Amino acid sequence: MLHLQGQDSRALARALGIELADARRIVGAVIGRGEGLRGARNVRREVLDRAERAATPGALACDAAVDAKDGFRKYLFRCPDGAKVEAVRIPLFDTHYTMCLSSQAGCALGCAFCATGRMGLARSLASWEMVAQFLHLRADSARPITGAVFMGQGEPFHNYEAVLAAAYALCDPSGGRIDQRRISISTAGVAPMIRRYTAEGHKFRLCVSLNAAIPEKRAGLMPVEKGYPLDELVDAVREHAAARGRVTLEYVMMAGVNVGDDDAAALGRLLAGIPVRLNPIDVNDATGRFRPPSPEEWRTFRDALARELPGQPVVRRYSGGQDEHAACGMLASRG
Ligand code: SF4
Repeated sequence: MLHLQGQDSRALARALGIELADARRIVGAVIGRGEGLRGARNVRREVLDRAERAATPGALACDAAVDAKDGFRKYLFRCPDGAKVEAVRIPLFDTHYTMCLSSQAGCALGCAFCATGRMGLARSLASWEMVAQFLHLRADSARPITGAVFMGQGEPFHNYEAVLAAAYALCDPSGGRIDQRRISISTAGVAPMIRRYTAEGHKFRLCVSLNAAIPEKRAGLMPVEKGYPLDELVDAVREHAAARGRVTLEYVMMAGVNVGDDDAAALGRLLAGIPVRLNPIDVNDATGRFRPPSPEEWRTFRDALARELPGQPVVRRYSGGQDEHAACGMLASRG
């Protein structure tokens, strides 16, 4: 299947057997300017005809877009087969946006604190369905979109090739023109795919959703721990850090669950000697089973992290868009 929205210039040139310069012009028209194939300039008609014959049709429909009070905007999309996915546009400094894209409709990993996990997996998205999320957001935005995180619905490393194809289309200078270093791919910890990603030398930022450093506790929150235990995951993180530098670890904070002194001490032991950046973020659980730490609980945990992870940056992330279920862990395609 070759959808013109899902390819970077090199991949398109290879797939169609055309000159790279022509592929760049086509990607420039389809992704760069969102005009479609016939918007390509200075491409011979026979090359355009070849691209048209090879291209799979299909468009992502935007069924709804809602604004949260803090400026986050959530979009609900419908795929040609009826599968529904969401994306979130996140304001940055009143001057530009970043976006959170979905890589699958639903998710098979079933993390206890995540609404998407409760949906189960419908299917993986094609690369064009990820790029199309960006095209809709860009067309709806007066300010530029300068970053992307694959942290919406789905486990990106369960849809590895398509996510990478989309990421390369997003950073293609003819395509999405997003700086490669501003594109993040976040995994819940599929260790063998982290190894493959490292070995292949991709330069997108790797994020790992850690959420607990005590194996039994992590297994209770994230079933993926039973397939790829912490030791194996941390070995893969260590390898990636050695090859590419500091790895970002996401840490969804749940009061009374994973923000105690024992949790901070376990993090210190687990991550000793590995350059990481720990990003704690409040849990968003509409079911009420999990609640974020109070300001006092956060201060105690923060101080414990400073003791146990000396020299490692700990940067608390803002969890926005909660009133419209646009925040981390809340994407469940009601609509
Ligand atoms: S947190 Fe991520 S990996 Fe876990 S169930 Fe939700 S979408 Fe899937």
